Amino acid sequence: MELEGKVALITGGARGIGKAIAECFARKGADLIIADISFDSASETAKGLTASGIRAAALKLDVSKSDEVATAFGEIMKQFGRLDILVNNAGITRDGLLLRMKEEDWDAVISINLKGVFLCSKEAVRVMVKQKHGRIINIASVVAFMGNPGQANYSASKAGIIGLTKTTAREYASRGITVNAVAPGFIATAMTDALAENVRQEMLKSIPAGAFGSADDVANAVAFFASPGSGYVTGQVIHVNGGMYM
Ligand code: NAP
Repeated sequence: MELEGKVALITGGARGIGKAIAECFARKGADLIIADISFDSASETAKGLTASGIRAAALKLDVSKSDEVATAFGEIMKQFGRLDILVNNAGITRDGLLLRMKEEDWDAVISINLKGVFLCSKEAVRVMVKQKHGRIINIASVVAFMGNPGQANYSASKAGIIGLTKTTAREYASRGITVNAVAPGFIATAMTDALAENVRQEMLKSIPAGAFGSADDVANAVAFFASPGSGYVTGQVIHVNGGMYM
């Protein structure tokens, strides 16, 4: 129960990797806020988590909207009075080759995947500086390091997250706040289920471990950065990719 007494906010926590992170944190005793663009799915996930005896609240939050982010943090402070851990997990894809990529698809991905991390981190740091303690964990991607045809917007957003992680880590290390990233490879979730079978088979060939990862594989790496034992680790990236990028 190493996270007992801690309060954690997980964006995009209603399903997929975010939900696995929430379940992992709940097993370790953290109280949780599941913030998602869909309030209904966030509520359902939060309800399921209270079975493990922790407090779990659901919030409707579009991470790309500064007014919604400010309101959500106000609500968290009202309900929980503190925030120890922020996991910036919400993310989308709008794939297409560069020449065909619509400007609106570029903007949507950058707004949610990158600006969302900026907005939530800013609110979280404000609270964590006062507490003199905090953990921010950003979910990046292997494509930030390798690129991926069809994902100019997505890979740029995830590479941006790495720069944002390192800069925020440098700015607030002296205030007891660590900022780190986890870069998953191909993980079996709705995001990868949507890929065509031939694309999935091609991807499998590039993974030395010979299999997609699970959302729990990612959650375990996130849990390390959230744990008391990682307090001297900041500005780092853990790659969870079965060896596809080293
Ligand atoms: P997912 O199954 O699509 O889940 C993403 C969650 O984020 C959903 O609950 C979604 O809500 C929510 N969301 C979407 N837009 C949002 C917004 N503007 N504000 C708040 N919440 C929003 O995706 P996933 O596979 O679990 O991915 C989670 C994170 O891991 C993402 O950042 C993704 O880029 C990253 N990642 C995934 C993989 C992979 O292979 N799956 C690999 C590398 C990195 P709705 O369902 O209602 O849209």
